Amino acid sequence: MNDHERHYLFDCATAGVQGLQPYQPGKPLSELEREYGVRDAVKLASNENPLGPSPRVKEAIQAHVAELARYPDGNGFGLKRALADRHDVDLKQITLGNGSNDVLELIARAFLAPGRGAVFSEHAFAVYPIVTQAIGATPQVAPARDHGHDLQAIRAAIDDTTRVVFIANPNNPTGTWLPGRELEAFLAEVPRDVILVLDEAYVEYVREPDYPDSLPWLDRWPNLVITRTFSKAYGLAGLRVGYALSSPVVADLLNRVRQPFNVNSLALAAAEVALGDAEHIARAVALNDAGMQAWRAACDKLGLAYIPSVGNFLSVDVGRPAGAVYEALLREGVIVRPIGAYGLPNHLRITIGTEAENSRAIAALEKVLA
Ligand SMILES: *Cc1c(COP(=O)(O)O)cnc(C)c1O
Repeated sequence: MNDHERHYLFDCATAGVQGLQPYQPGKPLSELEREYGVRDAVKLASNENPLGPSPRVKEAIQAHVAELARYPDGNGFGLKRALADRHDVDLKQITLGNGSNDVLELIARAFLAPGRGAVFSEHAFAVYPIVTQAIGATPQVAPARDHGHDLQAIRAAIDDTTRVVFIANPNNPTGTWLPGRELEAFLAEVPRDVILVLDEAYVEYVREPDYPDSLPWLDRWPNLVITRTFSKAYGLAGLRVGYALSSPVVADLLNRVRQPFNVNSLALAAAEVALGDAEHIARAVALNDAGMQAWRAACDKLGLAYIPSVGNFLSVDVGRPAGAVYEALLREGVIVRPIGAYGLPNHLRITIGTEAENSRAIAALEKVLA
């Protein structure tokens, strides 16, 4: 293919897609080991649970392998029933997704279009601009305050064209979060024809006393959509399963654009069992708390500033463009995440790992910064 053909085909795409930057995932371990020849590398780059899924989940997956020739339950009844019991909502309020990213895309497809806008914060999760621009809608970016979401700025960015607001609580990659009373006041101000997406991918990790229980808000605000995932604390990132809780009318709309079998049968079975293993979540949270303390202490010792985080990750200011530090860490067999694409060129986002992974990564960071 020559350059002319390449440009011609590129120009055939919609303007929104042409303007997109592809999502940059954390480097997979296998790729690092292949490219750098290192062994026993440590990946602290994608906010995965270092414990993996609960042992009960692995049994459930084994039990369903025999049925792989069958299509999954397209309505995800078993998982929805478990979620409805857990959250005290109706089955009709649940939308399942191939990861919560899938749900975010369903929201964009149902409510956004060219000429419509989606508001989100500077430094917010990268999937919001992707799903917005892919559909030809306009990103409406509100400036951050102290790296976190500024609800006043977000309110001010909403105009007549806005149809969706994305709020991550806590946000990735900053780990910043919003207290319940602020969010509740904000909800009361959001126009009724604007879908407010509250992305709670890290909810299980948050310990702050004034972090909201947002579920009761669903009864008061039919334009509220809460999204959650099995990819983080539940340790099932590889299976891809997440969900939205909303009013039945919004769930019905999302269901219309959903692929009929968007969540696979192993993921459905695994998530249903994972939801019931509270002990495993407690272990993951305790490990995260201890690891977060170790990382904060290490940063203090190294004189590095960080953005206080309530998630399972910490974004650290390495005091210089972070790309070279990221590369040097790769050579030490440690994968973290540079977040220049989020407007934070001097920060590295580090996922909290096991005690051994944290020690190894802290030692590597100390070495490459020396
Ligand atoms: C990781 C993450 C998600 C979840 O993605 P999945 O598609 O469920 O794996 C959603 N939102 C935020 C802010 C995240 O960091």
